[in-house]
Amino acid sequence: MELSIELPVDNDGFLRRECPHCEQEFKWHHGPANEEAEHQQPADAYFCPLCGQVAGPDSWWTQAQLDLIQAEVSGHVGSQLNDMFDDAFRGLRGGGLVRVETSGGFDDVETPEPLDEPDDMSIVASPCHGWEPVKVPENASGPFYCLVCGAAFAV
Ligand SMILES: [Zn+2]
Ligand SMILES: [Zn+2]
Repeated sequence: MELSIELPVDNDGFLRRECPHCEQEFKWHHGPANEEAEHQQPADAYFCPLCGQVAGPDSWWTQAQLDLIQAEVSGHVGSQLNDMFDDAFRGLRGGGLVRVETSGGFDDVETPEPLDEPDDMSIVASPCHGWEPVKVPENASGPFYCLVCGAAFAV
């Protein structure tokens, strides 16, 4: 099953992330931030800009993003199940032996509210990997850690 779910980015193109270690939120740039970034290999892991700990690229979902993904997936699976049931029951209908009515079914899964991404937080870029900028909460004072290599830096 393939399902593409669109997560909102803010007007600067940043995607909200949550660190699996310190559970603080920050944002990273979604897609290459500039031409230099386009030539880089995708990272195997990223460093949290706020606590400096490392985690794989798929470890940074916020709870709201996870909720959205889960709702989208269960909605999708629900409609597939519905089709399967319809197919299964189609064979029974008209046979005269069993009368089956399908109603309601799995279509009633609530459609999730689209997420809203405010233009909050401030952009910081590390001196070592400046092509991978992040946004950190405005009240965070640093030091911050490079998303790519984990080196600490002050702004
Ligand atoms: Zn962290
Ligand atoms: Zn770096």
